[in-house]
Amino acid sequence: MIRDIHYYRCKFSRRTKQNKLGLGVSLSAGEAPNKPVLLLSVIELIERGQIQRNRIELSPELISTFLKFWHDLNIQRDPNIGLPFFHLRTDGFWHFKAKPGFEFMESRASKIKVRSVSGLQQAVEYAYLDLELFTLLMNPGSRAELTLLLIENWFPNQIQQIERSLKFDVFDDLQNQLRASGGKVYSREEVEQEDKQTAIVRDGAFRRIVTNAYDYRCSFCGLKILNNLENIVDGAHIKPFSQFYDDKINNGLSLCKNHHWAFDRFWFTINDDYTLEIADTLYEDSPDTPTLKTFEGRQIYLPNREDYYPRLDALAWHRQQFREKAS
Ligand SMILES: [Zn+2]
Repeated sequence: MIRDIHYYRCKFSRRTKQNKLGLGVSLSAGEAPNKPVLLLSVIELIERGQIQRNRIELSPELISTFLKFWHDLNIQRDPNIGLPFFHLRTDGFWHFKAKPGFEFMESRASKIKVRSVSGLQQAVEYAYLDLELFTLLMNPGSRAELTLLLIENWFPNQIQQIERSLKFDVFDDLQNQLRASGGKVYSREEVEQEDKQTAIVRDGAFRRIVTNAYDYRCSFCGLKILNNLENIVDGAHIKPFSQFYDDKINNGLSLCKNHHWAFDRFWFTINDDYTLEIADTLYEDSPDTPTLKTFEGRQIYLPNREDYYPRLDALAWHRQQFREKAS
């Protein structure tokens, strides 16, 4: 069968008794519309340019968009993006690129079910679509046609609601709210009650805001590398989130992978005047790039707003750990 727009129109339709060709998205009785909600979420990210390659990751953008539709459509179940992310495979156009050691996930014949978000993150690098479908979704005309078909087929009574939802960039809105308030400190109860999906969205928002505030540059060494939507830095916590639940932007630092690792192990710390202090116990051999010791006494690269500068009590906590480790 030729995999053209007619084929995918059938595939995106609700599978009914009349639809005996076995096409259409399958849904067992009483099941929530997980699959169309995930497809709508993927389409929205393609529309926004947040998916530019045929790789669909369980990113904070995708999860927050899925949760937005779930909420806006008033679906009376607990949302779990892991269900459609795993089960769409049976519809024949959604495939997995597995992580090493989890190759069995790529076979549709495999009986092993991985439907939790954390399990999928462990086993799957990303999902991808048939190249023919991805090409159709990258084209604005065919994308609009398939989106309308999904909405009319699955949510005929909620068309306006979905069209409103599609226009609302929920992850961007969350980041703007957090930027305006300077971020948030959570209570232990809030964090303990958080499910994995909410945790990925919260953490993702913190990391995006922090790295953006430093213009995607490592505050230690100044390194900045961009590659399309990717960059080389992490949004690191000064006081660890696992102990302090502190997602204030001024508890954040943008650090490249090496310097994030070194900072979390107290191989260097930062003074109140934002100068660097390097542990004197390090043995370094680095013929082609500057050693950590080279940065002793230099000031870090600071973010674009003064209220995002690393908070002094957070730095004091980090220095104390650094000194205890040194003694
Ligand atoms: Zn660095």
